[in-house]
Amino acid sequence: MQKHFDFVILGAGIAGLSAAYFLSKSARIAVVEREQAWGYHSSGRSAAVFIEAYENPTVSDLSLDARDFFNQPPSNFSEYPLVKPLGGLMVVRDGEQAAAEAYLQRWSQRCPKLERVDAQDALARVPILRREGLQGAIFDPNLMSIDTNQLMQSYLRGFRANGGELFCGFDCSVQSLSNQHWLIRSGDRTLSTPVLVNASGAWANETAEHAGVQTLPIAPRRRTAALLSMPAGAPTWPMVRTMDQTLYFKPEDPGVMISPQDEGESSACDAQAEELDIAVAVDRFQTLCDFEVSRVHSHWAGLRTLTPDRCPVVGFAEDTANFFWLAGQGGAGIQTSPALGKLAAESLLSGSNLDPRLDPSRLSSQEHADVQ
Ligand SMILES: Cc1cc2nc3c(=O)[nH]c(=O)nc-3n(C[C@H](O)[C@H](O)[C@H](O)COP(=O)(O)OP(=O)(O)OC[C@H]3O[C@@H](n4cnc5c(N)ncnc54)[C@H](O)[C@@H]3O)c2cc1C
Repeated sequence: MQKHFDFVILGAGIAGLSAAYFLSKSARIAVVEREQAWGYHSSGRSAAVFIEAYENPTVSDLSLDARDFFNQPPSNFSEYPLVKPLGGLMVVRDGEQAAAEAYLQRWSQRCPKLERVDAQDALARVPILRREGLQGAIFDPNLMSIDTNQLMQSYLRGFRANGGELFCGFDCSVQSLSNQHWLIRSGDRTLSTPVLVNASGAWANETAEHAGVQTLPIAPRRRTAALLSMPAGAPTWPMVRTMDQTLYFKPEDPGVMISPQDEGESSACDAQAEELDIAVAVDRFQTLCDFEVSRVHSHWAGLRTLTPDRCPVVGFAEDTANFFWLAGQGGAGIQTSPALGKLAAESLLSGSNLDPRLDPSRLSSQEHADVQ
């Protein structure tokens, strides 16, 4: 079988599915996924939260651009709300007041609802926090939880309704032809397209190499998560983060999800949590909170793929005009997906790179080892 498409997207994570949704409104699209199911890697392993004051101004801009889509998705997009208010509490402990001030100075203008609260207020919101050493917190009323599964299903449903096709279990080879077309082959199935979109997450550089395109300084980093059971189930607390970015926790059945916010180096793989990282997370949780962990209910890890400037890469490759990068979403690929999917679609349809902050060429002078 051979089928022709206007664009073929490699990777059915949130990046590939969101771009496919927006693109399929005006073009014939195939999404190709190596695994048997979509969303198996990073996109199915996230903390599923939306934080406006996140990472850097570019990522924050993209997130703010995405907010309306989450709050008011197009009609028929989803039967259920995509987001729910959760709230966020950045705890400030002894010696962290200057850092808290700097944080507020950095973010308050774009996130005016961020609010300094005292220790008593922080304890009223999250009673298990240890009182000793607690100076207060910064409360973010706009932090939301995202129904990631619903979001991905909705992108997929919309894409299919527009005639798009998803090929799972498609372990393919990629060949560039002299007539500026690509052949994507798996067994006896062949897809052809003039433009290949690289939305392959942690494998983005492998995909580029495979296609004969120059790689970029992007690297997968492992992030660990664990679920702790709570006697009364998931509490109604906001998400809690530490000022020094060494721990976060948030309500999740049957208790709380915790993460040590690790960024261990990793190859592109089916990431697994390491015992040590889980132990570190539990230890930090017990230090911050008056709660003894008796058992870890479950744990997992996923890969966050980072560029040196911690901004995504969205645009045509410098050296190969019909190869498009949609990668490097780091820790914000879910919350930025409506904005990045739309931007990728507009760039692909116009044949030009529309946001210089995300242009792949900005990275060509940066070293692979520079990812921070
Ligand atoms: C623990 C954790 C917590 C996180 N929390 C949040 C959060 O709260 N909010 C947020 O916005 N983001 C969060 N993130 C980040 C977010 O999950 C990622 O940015 C996002 O999932 C990246 O999506 P992706 O589609 O690029 O990658 P993936 O979901 O990994 O998808 C890439 C897909 O490409 C496929 N693939 C690779 N190579 C090929 C090939 N050659 N052919 C076909 N298919 C291929 C892979 O199998 C994979 O399915 C978190 C990440 C982790 C790990």
